[in-house]
Amino acid sequence: MSNRDEFPATAIKALQMRAAFICSNPECRCLTIASSKENETDYIYIGHASHITAASKSGPRYDPSLTSEQRKDISNAIFLCASCAAMIDKNQGADFTAEQLKTWKKNHEFWVRENLNKNTGVITEVAGTHEASGIGDVAGLRISKSAKIRPGTVARATGIGKISGTSIE
Ligand SMILES: [Zn+2]
Repeated sequence: MSNRDEFPATAIKALQMRAAFICSNPECRCLTIASSKENETDYIYIGHASHITAASKSGPRYDPSLTSEQRKDISNAIFLCASCAAMIDKNQGADFTAEQLKTWKKNHEFWVRENLNKNTGVITEVAGTHEASGIGDVAGLRISKSAKIRPGTVARATGIGKISGTSIE
């Protein structure tokens, strides 16, 4: 027990926040927190700060080259739901490499920023003239997230069907 390099509470909190309390497994992405139906002041939490390389010698993906400090650093943590946390450590972690988990983590944090952080993320600015003409579904410029249309932006559309100069989807 005392030989485990556990993450400090501050690292766990930052990890949870960065992951938006959503499991970092791209095939799972379940929300790990819910309100209790029975008690207004309670919540149900099934998130887990998992070690990418094990907290102790006999654990999955143990990396002897890391110092104790590195092992309990946020860089060695990945946010998962309880189910995925258990899954990655089965078979002594043989099915999930440290590299793969690092990729999950990086991609997940990116995915949260790009898809969920509509107000805090980078907002696309649109300027200039966007023209579209044709038949069917035609757009001069398609934007898939929040966008700010700058003054003076011109959108011209001519044709038959769903034609738009600037299309925000
Ligand atoms: Zn999960």
